[in-house]
Amino acid sequence: MTRTPDPSFHTHPPEQPSAVGPVHPSPAPGDRGGVPAEDLRFIDRMRGLRSLGVGLAFVSIAGVFYSNGASRLAWAALIFNAFAWPHLAWYLARRSADPLAAERRNLMIDSASAGVWVVLMHFNLLPSALLVAMLSMDKICVGGWRFLARTATAQLIAAVAALALYGFHLQPATSLTQILLCLPFLAAYPIGVATLTFALARRVRQQNRQLAELNRIDALTGLVNRVHWEEAALSELRRHQRLGRPAALLMLDIDSFKPINDEQGHPAGDEVIRGVAGALGTCLRDIDVAGRYGGDEFGILLPETDTAQACAVAERIRHTVQGSLFGPDHRLRCTVSIGLALVTKDMQDSRDWISCADQALYRAKTLGRNRVATPAPSLKSTS
Ligand code: GH3
Ligand code: MG
Repeated sequence: MTRTPDPSFHTHPPEQPSAVGPVHPSPAPGDRGGVPAEDLRFIDRMRGLRSLGVGLAFVSIAGVFYSNGASRLAWAALIFNAFAWPHLAWYLARRSADPLAAERRNLMIDSASAGVWVVLMHFNLLPSALLVAMLSMDKICVGGWRFLARTATAQLIAAVAALALYGFHLQPATSLTQILLCLPFLAAYPIGVATLTFALARRVRQQNRQLAELNRIDALTGLVNRVHWEEAALSELRRHQRLGRPAALLMLDIDSFKPINDEQGHPAGDEVIRGVAGALGTCLRDIDVAGRYGGDEFGILLPETDTAQACAVAERIRHTVQGSLFGPDHRLRCTVSIGLALVTKDMQDSRDWISCADQALYRAKTLGRNRVATPAPSLKSTS
């Protein structure tokens, strides 16, 4: 009998992603050179969002450039920014050893170039405000207020540098045409950002659900783990205290399991544990709860069950296991000992109940194994 699964058999739950920019210190299977696939997906999504943003910004900035007679260099820079930069940014992030850090750099460049556009647009009010507002919004979505503070600083520095090179020109009035050219950016970009944010938030919710499920389930057997099983036992105990409904608890331990491990190896031992868990499934009702208690020990909760019915279930399990072949080549046999305890009103919590069933299990072991026992000798049922 063991109470704690051997640490060398433990599996660990996956890392949880952060709200938007996923953070994975440990690589997942299928990653490119240790870069988590989730990070690469994020880079791909950013390419789409950036293409949308700079494409729409191009329309509003071009409207101003056209009316204020911007230089060829300014036009060339704007065209590069709109049509080449999203793909170059994606390429740089994709080939980087740390794509998320590279993407943060790209976002800084986005903000810095917005500072330059504002200067080159002569502070034309609506497109300038729109550009700064939209770029602030996506920075908060990606990295929160602290990231916004850093990118806003980059934006300011770039604007000051542009002023130094280009000189200060002020034409804040926005014409109706320029307003119209701003509308696609105003309408479509927030929708794009919101869609991306929603998709990422939904993914985080899904992963949280998966994580909660993983925390509930024993990885080797697929049964619920000890913590969850004890919670189920406690709620059944409380139900008995409220309504007086009968319930039984079985503690089951594989007999002489250590020699199986020693002689056949741990993977074969794992197969036996998994096989016994599978055998339990064939002997129980939907309302019964079987859990892996630790090592080669299982707990089984039988609601709405009296002593005679519980004995019958326990014997059925014992016979099923005894008659099954386990292991990789289906050639290993094993038996189980089972302790049985009925719920009683004086039990304070699930530990009392479990310890009763444990005493019974201990008796089954000392009486020679491969048998079902209860704590009271008079209720004993032997093979
Ligand atoms: P008994 O009849 O008294 O129960 O004897 P036993 O040999 O089965 O003794 P015990 O129940 O104490 O042994 C449990 C063994 O199970 C010891 C431990 O190394 C092994 N074990 C615990 N968890 C795992 C696991 O996940 N996989 C495998 N293969 N072995 C495990
Ligand atoms: Mg054992």
